[in-house]
Amino acid sequence: MSQGQESISSTESGQARQHAIVFSGNGYNAAYEVGVLKALLHGVSPATRVSPSTAPEKIQPEIYAGTSVGAYSAAFMASESEQGDITAVERLTQGLPTEVGPRVRANPFDYLNPSFYLGNPLTPFVEFANDALHLSRDLTKRIGDFFASTPLTQPLAAFQDQVFNYEWDILSDISSLSRYVRDSIDLEKIRKSNKKLRITAANWQQGRIRTFENKDFTGDTGHQVITAAMAIPGAVPRQRINHEEFVDGAMLMDHPLQPVIEARDRQPGRRLVLHVIYLDPEFGEGPLLDVRGSFSIVYRLFLLAFSRAVNADIERVLNTNRALRFQELLEALDPDSEAMRLWGRLNQETKDRSEMEVHRYRSTRHLRSILDIFQASSEQMKRWIEIGYADAEEHDCTKAGCVRISQE
Ligand SMILES: [Zn+2]
Repeated sequence: MSQGQESISSTESGQARQHAIVFSGNGYNAAYEVGVLKALLHGVSPATRVSPSTAPEKIQPEIYAGTSVGAYSAAFMASESEQGDITAVERLTQGLPTEVGPRVRANPFDYLNPSFYLGNPLTPFVEFANDALHLSRDLTKRIGDFFASTPLTQPLAAFQDQVFNYEWDILSDISSLSRYVRDSIDLEKIRKSNKKLRITAANWQQGRIRTFENKDFTGDTGHQVITAAMAIPGAVPRQRINHEEFVDGAMLMDHPLQPVIEARDRQPGRRLVLHVIYLDPEFGEGPLLDVRGSFSIVYRLFLLAFSRAVNADIERVLNTNRALRFQELLEALDPDSEAMRLWGRLNQETKDRSEMEVHRYRSTRHLRSILDIFQASSEQMKRWIEIGYADAEEHDCTKAGCVRISQE
């Protein structure tokens, strides 16, 4: 344990704090996240106060991590922050509402309704109406089987198996999205950036996640990594990276905060402060998504898998902080005691760690319709950026359930 650790809580300077941003949104929530980030950069959110008596500070995040469309936002911030994060986020604000995310030209989400395939402008991509009918019936059966057979104790794990075993069809057009990622993200700037970038995607065949770092964003595969991280299973085609297919990793991440925790500066005296922005279907006013239509069900479970994993990770940070404090007390009593040695063996989690702070930002306003989520207009997206900004301005750590160092 470093010297002076115990004095950090109320007196540490801004430089001692290393800020990390974790993005994970799609559609309107990707815009909401950008609004939250803007507020943090401009120093208007109480979340960036060093102590309750000081004013919020303007932060300069050192780590950006993302899944889903949040992967794009993270990559953009890492590549464009040369002129400062505020300039970068302004440019992201301009581009995000109109260009980013799968542009759904019609509702590809009602897999259960055969008429969708027949009269749909995307039918040429589906190829044959007969296949579509088959797909539709097959999915109806599978989803029915899935809910009939899923043990109640393990719904998410069973669901993950189900999705990854299914050969989802390709129903959305992402050519403009791929082009936009290629045109707007400079890979060399990511490799040279002083920001650490962590993007997580899932290997479709193996059902395992992989986190990509700055050096992995090479000319051969860098853009595919970003597009793959945005490839929601069932809505966006899988992306090839070195002959393997990858999709959005959010659903399979057991520990969504781990890539950022691994990337932290391990210098003594530096404290990691995480800002995690995500959609939590179990938080806020009313349910998120009406669960009619198979994709709505799939997407709601997808969000649940991720939000529950984030919530569990935040709980782990809280427990690790408590363990570290206890360890400090033991050490102060007698650093060579048997109790101290035993503690060290029992608590591997505390090894080389110092206490961390986690702020969470979850919109309390939910959209009910899957189309509203994925087909928000440019004006609506701008509105969601403003909502994110306003929510961060009014951020209340107690209500949000944040982990603060001085809270106990
Ligand atoms: Zn907070």
